[in-house]
Order: sequence, then C-alpha cells, then structure tokens
Amino acid sequence: DVVPITRALISVSDKAGIVELCTYLASKNVELLSTGGTAKKLRDAGLTCIDVSDYTGSPECLDGRVKTLHPKVHGGLLGVRGNAQHEKDMTDNGIGKIDITILNLYPFEATVAKGAAFEQCIENIDIGGPSMLRSTAKNHAFTTIVTSPDQYDEVKATIEEHGGTTLAMRKRFAARAFSLSASYDSAIATWFTKELGEESPVVTRVYKPEFPLKYGCNPHQKPAGISSLLNSNLPFTVLNGTPGYINLLDAANAWLLVKELREATGLAAASSFKHVSPAGAAVAVPLTDVECAAYEVTPEAAAKLTPSALAYLRARNADPMCSFGDYAAVSDIVDEDTALILKKEVSDGIVAPGYTPEALEILKSKKGGKFIVLEAKADFKPDSVEYREVYGMTFCQKRNDVVITKDHMTKNVVTKGGLSALSEDAIRDMIVASICVKYTQSNSVGFAKDGMMVGVGAGQQSRVDCVKLAGRKVTTWYLRQHPKVLGLQFKQGVKRQDRVNARVRYIEGDFTDEERTRWEAQFETVPEPLTTAEKDEFMKQATGVTISSDAFFPFRDSIDHASKVGVSYVAQPGGSVQDPQVTQCCDDYGMVMSFTSVRLFHH
Ligand code: 5GP
Repeated sequence: DVVPITRALISVSDKAGIVELCTYLASKNVELLSTGGTAKKLRDAGLTCIDVSDYTGSPECLDGRVKTLHPKVHGGLLGVRGNAQHEKDMTDNGIGKIDITILNLYPFEATVAKGAAFEQCIENIDIGGPSMLRSTAKNHAFTTIVTSPDQYDEVKATIEEHGGTTLAMRKRFAARAFSLSASYDSAIATWFTKELGEESPVVTRVYKPEFPLKYGCNPHQKPAGISSLLNSNLPFTVLNGTPGYINLLDAANAWLLVKELREATGLAAASSFKHVSPAGAAVAVPLTDVECAAYEVTPEAAAKLTPSALAYLRARNADPMCSFGDYAAVSDIVDEDTALILKKEVSDGIVAPGYTPEALEILKSKKGGKFIVLEAKADFKPDSVEYREVYGMTFCQKRNDVVITKDHMTKNVVTKGGLSALSEDAIRDMIVASICVKYTQSNSVGFAKDGMMVGVGAGQQSRVDCVKLAGRKVTTWYLRQHPKVLGLQFKQGVKRQDRVNARVRYIEGDFTDEERTRWEAQFETVPEPLTTAEKDEFMKQATGVTISSDAFFPFRDSIDHASKVGVSYVAQPGGSVQDPQVTQCCDDYGMVMSFTSVRLFHH
C-alpha cells in the first residue's frame, strides 16, 4: 500500500509552507517539477527544480492559461502502475511517472470577494489546477494529491515513518481534493449565476463533516451531525464535553447575543439560554443590596465580583426557574469568579471567547466531567447569506446582521417630551432588550431594568399573550425582592434550585392542599401567605422598566399590560395602523416610546 515518492509536481498559488515541504522532499532525492511562479519561489530558496515546460517540451502559453495541460503531465498522473498496456503507452510516449501532486488553486473566491471586474474573475478560474487535482485524486491507488498547506506536516511524517505515502492517507486526501474541486466549481457557478442577475444566489454548497451528534432534536432523530462549509471552519472549538444539537443552537444564539451586547454597551455581558431563547441576559451593572439578598450573594462578595461574573450572576437571576439546566454565554474571558458561580448552578454548558486555566479546571469538573465548554473564535466571519433546509425546501436569506445602536433608540421618540425624556440608562436598557429579542424565538418581547433582562417572552402566537407571559416574569422578579420572600426560612439541606422554585410558588400562591403540605415541609417555620394586597402594594414601586418588542404592537392592550409591571420605556419598530393609538396609550401612562424601524423576528 505504500508508494515511494520519486517525482513530485508542485503548482501552488498559496505558497505558504511550500519551500519547507520541498526542501524535505529534495532531501529524500525527490525530483521536483514545477510551474512558473512556484519554480521561481523554490529556486530562490536554493532548491533545484525542473520547469514543467522543459519537462513537457511545451512552453507555458496563453498568459498562463495553458501550463500543465499536457499528456506528459496527465499521463504521468493517470497511468495505472503495473497495467501492461498503460506501462507500454507511457514508455511509447515518453511519459514518466509522477507520484505526488502538491497544488492549490487560483484564489477565485478571494478575487470575487475583492469586488474584481468580471474579466479578472474569469481569469482567476483555474483550469490546469483542477485538472491535475482530478487526475491525481482519481489515480489515488498510486498517486497522492495534496491540496492544502495544513496537510504538509502529515505528508512529511508519513514519508518519514513509512518511506512513502499510505493508501489510507491517499484516499483521505483524494476525498478532500474532490470536495475542494466541487466547492471551487460551486463558487464559480454561484458567482456566474449572480452575474446573470438571477434572484437566488444559491447553486450548491459543499460541506465537510465536523463531528457526529448523538441525535438531533429528539433521540429518535438519528443520524445527526454538524458540518461546516468546506472552505470555512466551525465558529467554536470544543474544549470539554460533547455538545448536542440543541446545545449548539443555544450556543450560537447565546454567543451572538453577548457579543453584540458587549459591542453595543462596552460592558461585559452574559446570557442564559434554554430551548434556543434566552431565559436571561445582562451586562455588568453593580447589584443593589436587595438584589444581593434575592440572588443569594453577600454584598461584600458581590462588590468583589469581576465584570464577567457579575454579568452571568444577573443573567442567571433574571428567571432562575427557567435557567435550570441552561446554556451560558459570556462575552469576556471566563475567570474563576464566573466559573465558581456556574459551579453552583445546574447548567449544561458555556461558550465564551476564552477561559483562565483555573476557570477551565473548575468547569471541566462540572457534571462529572460532561459540562460542555466551547471557545468562540473571535475572528470568525460567517457568510453574509445563510441557508436552512425544511421539508425538502432550502431557504436562503441574508443574515440578520443589523447592528442595534443608540441611534435606533433616539432617532424617533414618538411620545410627549421627545428625546429629552430618555436617560442614558434607559437607552442602554432599550439596547439590551432589543438585542435580547433579536435572539429570542418570535413572537418575543423582553423587559429590561438596570442592564438586565427581567422578563423574556418567547415563541407566542399573539403579542399580547407574550407581554402577559413576560410581564408575569417581571412581577416574579420584583416579588423575589419582597421582604417576606427574602425572609423565608428554609430548612438545612434544601437544594438551591428547590429554593428557587419554592420562592416562585410562594409568589404565585395558588397551591392545592396537597401541594401546600409538601411545599411547607421545606421550611423551618411555616411561612405566612403573601397576599394579593401585599403583592399589589409592593408592585406599586415598580418603575423604570423597559420593554422591547420584536415587531410592532398592533393594539394598545400590550401597553396596558406593560403599565402594570413598572414599564417606563418602550422600544418597538412601529409601522402598525394603530401606531397613533399605541402612542396615545404610552402618553396616558407617561411612558417614553421609540420607534426603531427595525423588525427583529427570529426563527
Ligand atoms: P505558478 O505560480 O506556479 O505560476 O502557478 C500556480 C497556479 O497555476 C496553481 O494555482 C495551479 O493550479 C495553476 N495552474 C497550473 N497549471 C495550469 C494550467 O495549465 N492552466 C491554468 N489556468 N492554471 C494552471
């Protein structure tokens, strides 16, 4: 299975690493054949090589359009070794065997991306390269096709170990070469179709498998896996654990949310995702003493928290009942403080741009070593167009890459008093809530206060139901700070999440007799009920809350409901026939409303 290498054909546009590889091959007495620019590079480095044109006796011509398209090249690559007729044909035609082709193609996609003129793009369609690639890959039983500098080390190591290339490696490299060829042609076809003015920019996309997933959305949805575009990579590196299908959907959305919050506010940000919507999200704003009590942290400890830790503490405490088993994202390096908070919580995984060694150690030991840790690649740039398949249909759309800024919140304040009624804190909260709904399944609304989501409503068919649902969460968040809730005396040994759930049930108060008995068993002293009158009285202090909606409010009812949970600021796209009535409603309650003009549906 091992083929020794005696003659190599080298023709590369991207010349990275080529001198090192060829120096190695020369040291093994391999004869080097090469095309114009590549030959020059090798000679400049002091290597001896033969120009393909000298080898074939045919000069490179037509401005380089014809360099290697010659029987002495393709015969040398395609001839089946040991086949009597092939061997005879090769001898009769003076064709020598070529054992390995090292090439990469004209940078067609980069040329298009630069905005080059039509003719220049055409000139950057490689002809000889893909031909050599296909000849070599087809004859992989005897020849080796190397198409990327990231394979050079393996080539050297394999020759070093085996004295030549192995069949297993040649097959793998051939498969990769054919994928490259398909992706290259797909890029040309995509570009050319667009040049014709065709509507949809889709032709074909070529993926490379990254890793299999245990299953898809449900255990019976097998097989499942993750791929990336052939000429790209995944946006994350897996540092620990085995991410599942929904984990990765959560991670992608959670990461984009915190990245955008960070960019928009300049503050460390965190989010806590469940089922591809945020349960919470926040930027690093200091906690009040009452919040400290509600979130079970001492004011002294809270004052010392790093911005990342503070942001996650807030994000996790927006709706800690929903955040049970969350997927977390943090915009900054995860430090020990942040990891220690996560350590106490039931959580599935995290994504962040990096981890301190101490933090990574703590996180890796969570969930019996199964806690998923993803490192986001800060420089990752996805295509501007994204694709999704549903029921045999391929959807394609420009990514929702709108950048939410202060300008969206300030350019069209439609309520009485106009822009002057908006404080900087209110603008920040409008931005936080709007970025949050950008990554929440629609219909969505989000309530924010002090740089923190305090109620996120996701996936509702009616906007007003969404407001009611998220509004209930705001009420719960407020009432968790009620003295009677803070004063609950839990028995020793009641677990953290059970305390969280018990407080919520206390606030809700709608127990069956049986449920009440079980609930009461968690306390040292049986708590007095929290009455409706007490709750109403406490909620009167609620103020300064911001609501953002992913689409316009079609009726004033949503604003009526929002007024019950302390909403003072409203951000929404506007555009409903009822805009005047909704604006009037805001004025009735003394709220300030901005029309952002950006709809943020997310599915
Ligand atoms: P060099 O820099 O060595 O002059 O050119 C290397 C590039 O030329 C490689 O990207 C290779 O794929 C491409 N190439 C090699 N042979 C031919 C050919 O016959 N025609 C065309 N159009 N490109 C070729």
